[in-house]
Amino acid sequence: MELNANAFGRNARKALLDKTLQAALGRTTERFLAHRDAAVAAFPEFERTRERASRIKLDVLDHLDTYLLRFIEEAEKRGAIVHVARDAAQAREIAARIARDEGVTLAVKSKSMASEEISFNEALQGAGVTVVESDLGEFIIQLAGEAPSHIIAPAVHKSRQEISSLFERHLGGPRTDSIPELVGMARRHLRAKFLSAGMGVSGGNFLVADTGSVVLVTNEGNGRLGTVLPRVHLAVVGIEKVIPRMSDLPTFLRLLPRSATGQAISSYVSIVTGTRRAGDPEGPERMHILLLDCGRSAILEGKYREILKCVRCAACLNVCPVYQSVGGHAYGWVYSGPIGAVLTPLLVGLAEAVALPDASTLCGACADVCPVKIPLPDFLLELRSDVREQGLKTPGEIAAMKGYAGVMRRAGLLEAIERIAGVLGQFFTKGKGIGGLPYPFSGWTERRDFPAPAALPFRKQWKIRRGVTR
Ligand code: SF4
Repeated sequence: MELNANAFGRNARKALLDKTLQAALGRTTERFLAHRDAAVAAFPEFERTRERASRIKLDVLDHLDTYLLRFIEEAEKRGAIVHVARDAAQAREIAARIARDEGVTLAVKSKSMASEEISFNEALQGAGVTVVESDLGEFIIQLAGEAPSHIIAPAVHKSRQEISSLFERHLGGPRTDSIPELVGMARRHLRAKFLSAGMGVSGGNFLVADTGSVVLVTNEGNGRLGTVLPRVHLAVVGIEKVIPRMSDLPTFLRLLPRSATGQAISSYVSIVTGTRRAGDPEGPERMHILLLDCGRSAILEGKYREILKCVRCAACLNVCPVYQSVGGHAYGWVYSGPIGAVLTPLLVGLAEAVALPDASTLCGACADVCPVKIPLPDFLLELRSDVREQGLKTPGEIAAMKGYAGVMRRAGLLEAIERIAGVLGQFFTKGKGIGGLPYPFSGWTERRDFPAPAALPFRKQWKIRRGVTR
């Protein structure tokens, strides 16, 4: 997927003017949040489970090499072929080679954010393979020639009418706005693809070290069809998805759907362990697992290592006021919302995504909902200091911050500015605040009022109340 993270400001302005996007975003995030709150309230063990999940993930980070080696050994014992990719280019090369060696011309793919990181579809298309997305949301945006905008609801930005037009154009069916009919059209189209594809491609929510299993959590059953019907199964998964034991899985299965969609459990949990054995009624004859490092080892060594605990539930997106306003495409890469604002700069380099750590109000809501207790606001603040330390601030920002620090260090100067602002502010104040400030402050007042300065500065008021005469 093309990287465009430093265009966050431009992308966000465009998103704010898109009425369809605004309506769809509001509806979806509100619904997810309401369901999540209800699901968490109905599960008194939530906090304790969250603690346990965080502890398991911390243990994984401390012993990632050991757990990964165990996973590879167990998966290979059961017939899988495991590949490890250092970076995106190597991952694309491996994926294309697998498709060529296996003689695949059509692949059905279930949703995988990791595959978006390496531009998987383009790699396979380059090897002469047609890739069909089989998750309904992903299928819709593939028809539209777009990228996903949300981890669990990739087509959240599309209206029913837009989807109807897409299906009319690409699937040739009659135009309809009925959701069951639209779903039926997609289902008929995709079933034929499942039955004729040579390879099924999946992501993986978890990799279980002690059994070598790949675990898929889905709501549509496409992950299951894609892993059992085609002759070959290829799972593309980040190395951080490993968990130590099968007995750890229920902890995560209790948290993930509740945090993601507010379901107590998702419709399908598929545990794929190796290739089809003699007597098995179904399953792939050949199984490849492509493990992506792609910057994760470097993150593991540094101060942001806990970001690798993420289970991609998207709860932090839904609750984020910035994401709620601008949607996922504004973040300019695979991951959006608070997780994207932290993970993208770490995976692609801070200079390539310098705008993202500022794409947050630091309200802290993301940390409150994160099921594995990732301190997202702390990381965002830390990244902002890294931006400064690495000299990535623009000269204008540096000058503004120096000016601000200079004023804050001089109490007399601050007081004088407050007095002047208090007097001038009265001329520009309309209603509750000041609207329509000139550039560069117009960025603030375009969409909201600037709070009017108090006629009497705070410290003056404080002195009056305390009877301080100095
Ligand atoms: S950071 Fe936490 S809340 Fe956000 S997607 Fe990851 S696990 Fe979910």
